[in-house]
Amino acid sequence: MLNKFNYIDDVKKTVLVVDDEYVNREMLGAILKEYYNIIYAENGEEALRLIRANEKILSCILLDLLMPVMDGFKVLDILNDDVRYRSIPVIVLTSEKQAEVESLRRGAADFITKPYDTPEVIIARVKRIIELSENRLVIQSTERDELTGLFTKSFFYEYANLMDRYHGDREMDAVSVNIDRFHLVNEIHGRDFGNKVLLSLSDAIKEYAHENEGIAARGDADDFYMYLNHQDSYAKLESRINEAMGSLDKSVYIKVRIGIYSCLAESQDMENRFDRSRLAANTLRGKFNQTIAYFDNDLQHKVFYSERLIHDIHEGIARKQFEVFFQPKYDITDDKPHLKAAEALIRWRHPEFGMISPGDYISLFEENGLIQMLDQFVWHEAAAKIRYWRDKYGVTIPVSVNVSRIDIYDPEIENKIDKLVDECGLNPEDLHLEITESAYSDNAEQLIQVVEDFRSKGYLIEMDDFGAGYSSLNMLANLPIDVLKLDMKFIQNIHTDGKALRMVQLIMDIANFLHVPVVAEGVEVEDQYRLLKRMGCQLIQGYYFSKPVPAGEFEEFIAKEQ
Ligand code: C2E
Ligand code: MG
Ligand code: MG
Repeated sequence: MLNKFNYIDDVKKTVLVVDDEYVNREMLGAILKEYYNIIYAENGEEALRLIRANEKILSCILLDLLMPVMDGFKVLDILNDDVRYRSIPVIVLTSEKQAEVESLRRGAADFITKPYDTPEVIIARVKRIIELSENRLVIQSTERDELTGLFTKSFFYEYANLMDRYHGDREMDAVSVNIDRFHLVNEIHGRDFGNKVLLSLSDAIKEYAHENEGIAARGDADDFYMYLNHQDSYAKLESRINEAMGSLDKSVYIKVRIGIYSCLAESQDMENRFDRSRLAANTLRGKFNQTIAYFDNDLQHKVFYSERLIHDIHEGIARKQFEVFFQPKYDITDDKPHLKAAEALIRWRHPEFGMISPGDYISLFEENGLIQMLDQFVWHEAAAKIRYWRDKYGVTIPVSVNVSRIDIYDPEIENKIDKLVDECGLNPEDLHLEITESAYSDNAEQLIQVVEDFRSKGYLIEMDDFGAGYSSLNMLANLPIDVLKLDMKFIQNIHTDGKALRMVQLIMDIANFLHVPVVAEGVEVEDQYRLLKRMGCQLIQGYYFSKPVPAGEFEEFIAKEQ
């Protein structure tokens, strides 16, 4: 016989038994009454009345599904929609597999199958569910999102997996919904309005998920997820969401992105499926006339390609597939241009994909924490070459290396670069550090601290891609930089477009006023070169002089100078 003291703390907990059949109620009561206070209801309506009256003391509900007046599903729905009752665990009494899944979806915690199991099993189940729910009450904040009442992500995944397990034959879709630039909605219209938007979106999503036998969750901020029956079209979801968003405030346009991954006969794990739907949604950034995107072959291909590159980088470095190229920077202040410096640029000769451009992998490696390894390789190569050329030709050609925004977070970055410069017998001013403009707005404080430390030791900081990000001209006066590299797009049209020319002139004037030399990047033709020279630009980098070339070829530029 079971020892009741294992099961009961101090006071007897209260359990509600809901069943329309007298015999069933009596039987369950007889089994459980030694351990619990039992109250009884004959149908859903009576159950709800008792639940309301005993809300505070009710530990568990045993709920029959098929009952007159109000059935068990209805009760589940009502409980599930109400924050006051949602946390009371419900064990469904059923004889049907199909009904189990359905009730699970509607929030049931467990089942007891009819005809009833042995008393020991029933007692153990009730006990376990009460314990679980008590534990869960403590961590409830992690099951339900506070604002919307939707599942949080981790619970959502659990339930989605359960749905699969009980319903493996259903074709399902993983759907991600998020709001385009939601942070701006918050910033411009206030958090209260932002919350209204989230609530109204979550209502639309909840309803849609429900109608299509699915479940819904909220992740971070404006990320919503649904796992539901496969749909051939999501036009209805789109119009429903648009309607909900449009009804809030006519003057505020809220755009959502819907990403869909259809997991037809799928072996991907749940998180992967939702990663994919989110990836699809993210392709809609900046596409103002499109709301829905599918994870399709193209995207799949991109993901595979990225995964391959991430996988191959280590071997790439070990097998010397990476090579540092150098692009000369010419000083054009005198009559005859002369070689002044160089920029080190990474190149990858991939054994299968051939030469891949950094554009394909720099941001990928930034996202995946791999950029530091690559950058350190480049810094070493660059420093070693400065030394080698100095020994061989008796001149120092300063080389600038790109420093990724991610490198800045490395607390060892200064030590690493100091050590490198020291080992190669260089002076700090021989190695220039290029930091892209947008990094300055990402994490201004930390970046400026690191940059100032570097400058105080004598390193030169070049702000890369100036004009491509969001910093304004008046920021220039306050930023600790030594050289400004004008983004290529400014130079592109100066010889054909008067407005572009005036823009460059303006930047050049301000930079001159601040005594910050300007490097014009992407200079390709003679006309651009002449105009820049006339405007007082000191340094030029671009195909007009040379593409980035291997170190051996770059050496010829040095030799020619002499
Ligand atoms: P960036 O630092 O602004 O480098 C200049 C880019 O412009 C280089 O592209 C260069 O080949 C290209 N370029 C130079 N002159 C011309 C021209 O006259 N016309 C045109 N159309 N293009 C020109 P690349 O080498 O493909 O590098 C692209 C970007 O990738 C770089 O932009 C930089 O942000 C990043 N990158 C390259 N190497 C590294 C590296 O070692 N580490 C890090 N973190 N980023 C790197
Ligand atoms: Mg650069
Ligand atoms: Mg640049």
